[in-house]
Formats: sequence, C-alpha cells, structure tokens
Amino acid sequence: MRVGIFGGTFDPIHLGHLIIAQEMMLHCALNRVVFMPSGEPPHKRNPEMASAKDRAMMVELAVRDYPGFAPSRFELSRPGKSYTIDTLRHWRQDMGEDTKLFLIIGADNAVDMGAWCNPKGVLDLAQVLVADRPGFDRARIDPAFKSLMRFVQTPLIDISSTAIRDRVRNKKPISLWVPEAVENYIQTHGLYV
Ligand code: ATP
Repeated sequence: MRVGIFGGTFDPIHLGHLIIAQEMMLHCALNRVVFMPSGEPPHKRNPEMASAKDRAMMVELAVRDYPGFAPSRFELSRPGKSYTIDTLRHWRQDMGEDTKLFLIIGADNAVDMGAWCNPKGVLDLAQVLVADRPGFDRARIDPAFKSLMRFVQTPLIDISSTAIRDRVRNKKPISLWVPEAVENYIQTHGLYV
C-alpha cells in the first residue's frame, strides 16, 4: 500500500486541494490519500475561522464521492497542537511495515519546513511530495530538505482558502471553487460571513 497523508487547516477545503491530491495519486501511484484537518488551536488565531467540526464535515463532504480519498479525524481527536512528526509516527505504527507513507504539501509549506518540529524526522518517516503553488519559489526551500523532497508535476492553481473566505464575505460566488456540497454547507451554516 502507498498512502498519502494530506494535512491542512481546510478552512474550507477547495478544488485546489482535490486536484493536487488526484495528481499526486496518479503520478506517485498512491492507493489512498487521507485528508486530515488540523485540530482546533487552543486560542483561535482568527475568530472567523470555522470550528474544527465544521472543517472536518466539509472535508468529509468533499471527498466522499472520490474512490481512494478518505477523511481522517485523527488530529481533531487529539488534544492540543498536533505536530506532523507525531501524526506520521502514529500512522507508521498503525499501518504496518508493508505500507509506504507519503506526505503531500504545497510549496508554501515546503518553504516553511525549517520552522516545523523535527523536519528531518518527517522526511525520514515519509516521502514528502511537493506541489508547486503560485507565489512560492522552489529556490526558497532549504537545500538540505529540498534534496529529499519529490516535486510532482501538478497544475499551478491559484486558489486558497483565504480567497474563498474573502469571496464569501464579499458575497461573490464560490460555486466553481469548492465542491457543491461544501458550498451548500458554508451557506447553510453561515460560515465566513
Ligand atoms: P489558507 O489560505 O487559509 O492559508 P490554504 O488554501 O493554504 O489555506 P490549507 O488547508 O492551509 O489551505 O492547505 C493544506 C495543504 O494544501 C498545504 O500543504 C498547502 O500548501 C496545500 N495547498 C493548498 N492550496 C494549494 C494550491 N492552490 N496549490 C498547491 N498547494 C496547495
């Protein structure tokens, strides 16, 4: 088994996430991509951030129609901040030796990797797959980490959760930016207004 872990705030999940996951599956022959929303920060940085429950619900609605995509509430169910290294250690143990783990990240995260907890350990536990992202130059990635990453050819997608939250706030349509079920969830629950 080749399993990709795709962590994020997913506030909300958008088509950029889904397209990147699909391309990673295709190019890296992954059997499964696990979408893992991060837990609730102890002090919400941003009062407009959706709750962990809402973010998880939207992830679940977004992936349910795609074979090979699966949601996970693993980080949500753990108290306090989850570090990627701890999450990967758990999955490594849980999955057994015949599973190869991959970690899917965008180039913005790759640029920030020096600030992660134990980045070398992360690169040791999983093959890190990087998707390019508009505005984030690969040249800014620490060469020590970069040499261990795999850059996967994915379309450059200029969609972010920030842009979607802004569009909702400004009453602009988001119907082509997120799956329909996610759009309906945002509307029904009055998120990001
Ligand atoms: P925000 O705008 O709130 O910061 P986001 O759009 O970056 O959110 P996250 O949930 O933080 O979404 O992203 C989860 C992961 O997906 C991160 O590794 C991020 O780099 C990656 N990602 C998100 N959107 C894109 C995109 N358009 N292209 C490439 N990678 C992306």
